[in-house]
Amino acid sequence: MVGADERAEVRRVWRDLGLPGLVDVHTHFMPDNVLSKVWAYFDALGDGVWPITYRFDQDERLDVLRGFGVRYFTALSYPHRPDMARWLNSWAASFTEGNPDCLRSATFYPEPDAKDYVAEAIDSGTRVFKAHLQVGAYDPRDPLLTDVWGTLADAGTPVVVHCGSGPMPGDFTGPGPFSEVLRAHPRLTAVVAHAGAPEYTAFLDLVERYERVHLDTTMAFTPYIERMSPFPRAELPRLRDLGHRVLLGTDFPNIPYAYLEQIRALVDLDLGSAWLRGVLHDNAVGLFGL
Ligand SMILES: [Zn+2]
Repeated sequence: MVGADERAEVRRVWRDLGLPGLVDVHTHFMPDNVLSKVWAYFDALGDGVWPITYRFDQDERLDVLRGFGVRYFTALSYPHRPDMARWLNSWAASFTEGNPDCLRSATFYPEPDAKDYVAEAIDSGTRVFKAHLQVGAYDPRDPLLTDVWGTLADAGTPVVVHCGSGPMPGDFTGPGPFSEVLRAHPRLTAVVAHAGAPEYTAFLDLVERYERVHLDTTMAFTPYIERMSPFPRAELPRLRDLGHRVLLGTDFPNIPYAYLEQIRALVDLDLGSAWLRGVLHDNAVGLFGL
């Protein structure tokens, strides 16, 4: 169970800012058997390395998130092999039917029918996509994805892309491969997960260069990540100035610390209440037209 104290503390932060709540663009809901594999992966890292704080059944996880005052969230999932994305996408569609405060979410993999199911997903109301280059272990420049990025760019549908090399690097993570995707599709509405950790500077460069590129805050700035990959203090002015393109993300429920720590980490950056209002709520409201 989540303590009443944590809930009250999170709610106090947004209430003091005059906000009606939070919008969290990076949360994970997925079929139970997939989520238990994700948890098993984190468990296998070793005792106490990555303890899942919110290891509850789905109804309780939803209660906890709503209890924090999260008004809208996502159900991000991601395939690690072909022939999986369509199934994940239909699960996510029915999840949103039962939970209208979840922005309908979808994903894809480099496979021949990706361009078709991505177009279908957009036509039937998908609001956000997820691409995970480390777990998926694919090259975002794969020709099978050219039409996918193009379709997303044309539709203006945001795609949350895990393209930084943290917490775990992959063959295609880092700013190199994904910046080539942006060069080919400069109007893509991309949300770089984890603020691009640990390559914060290179991904801030992309946010500066492309007006539809955003960052999500997922895990970034928390003591857990700061120990491994500290955000360079010299970049704080840029993070402040580009604040209109920074969005709250958390990785709930798969985080090795309390949700409150993410919120506190953002408050402690001390970038001003206007910055916080944008990041915790208003920027996502604008981006998703909520
Ligand atoms: Zn995530």
